[in-house]
Amino acid sequence: MKILILMMSMFLIGCDVDNNNHGYGFEYDFITPLGIEYKNKSNSIGLSSIELEQELKNVFSCISSVWYDKLKINEHGLSFYPDLMVITADKIINSDREGRYYSSPNLILLVSEKSPNYKTDSKIVYRHELVHYILEKMTGSNHSNHQSIFFNSCVYF
Ligand SMILES: [Zn+2]
Repeated sequence: MKILILMMSMFLIGCDVDNNNHGYGFEYDFITPLGIEYKNKSNSIGLSSIELEQELKNVFSCISSVWYDKLKINEHGLSFYPDLMVITADKIINSDREGRYYSSPNLILLVSEKSPNYKTDSKIVYRHELVHYILEKMTGSNHSNHQSIFFNSCVYF
């Protein structure tokens, strides 16, 4: 019994240590009406609450237009309820990328406009990361190898 309790507590401690939202923490500055949690760590301009939601809807309707009539769409025009956090940061840990998507928990990172790594319009980078997120919600795979046409057709429109 003691061993079982010890193993269980090690497991619980392990979870706390390893899962701090991919190293970025769970605190956020605001939550949009749809439930997107947003943290603007670097205090850059970033994207507004309306833009965060509108881009999610735009990219979803672009991707889902292929099989739209077979989907169950909710009152927000989506086939799922967002469980997403977006963080604008000065730096992405261990990477010089401008954006990154992590799953479970679902997190999109965007570098701030003040970051030395900032090159591309935040909206374009956000759309790219949304393609990963939405594909994962809809198909179970986030297509990390970018072998989907949606990385082109649903990002640049
Ligand atoms: Zn990507």
